[in-house]
Amino acid sequence: MHEYGLMQEMVALLLKKLQEGVCPETGKIEVVLKVGGFAIHSAAATRQAYEVLTKGTRLEGSKLNLMVEPVTLNCAGCGCQEVLGEDQVDPHDPLPLAECPRCGQVAPVQGGRGVESLELVCE
Ligand SMILES: [Zn+2]
Repeated sequence: MHEYGLMQEMVALLLKKLQEGVCPETGKIEVVLKVGGFAIHSAAATRQAYEVLTKGTRLEGSKLNLMVEPVTLNCAGCGCQEVLGEDQVDPHDPLPLAECPRCGQVAPVQGGRGVESLELVCE
């Protein structure tokens, strides 16, 4: 599963940060994760993976603030820019294309594939 692998990496990074003592031993933790629109398939699956992976760790019960950058279509035909929903393009497609909702021309879709930022907020 795509999200699971990504979150495995993120959780490992966060736990390493915690080990370095960036947060107090107790208290609430919030994780702010910003990813490109192509980095994950579904936000729900990402949250679920986070919950499973943090079980039994210092991050268990922490809040995951997930932000997904929009995927946009830039049409050369009519010059329009449209923000697409997450189910409108296949993130596994190396060169995703979508039909322009205005003129019907097939246009390239742009969006981030990686993690934009990962932050640990302690209270
Ligand atoms: Zn167009």
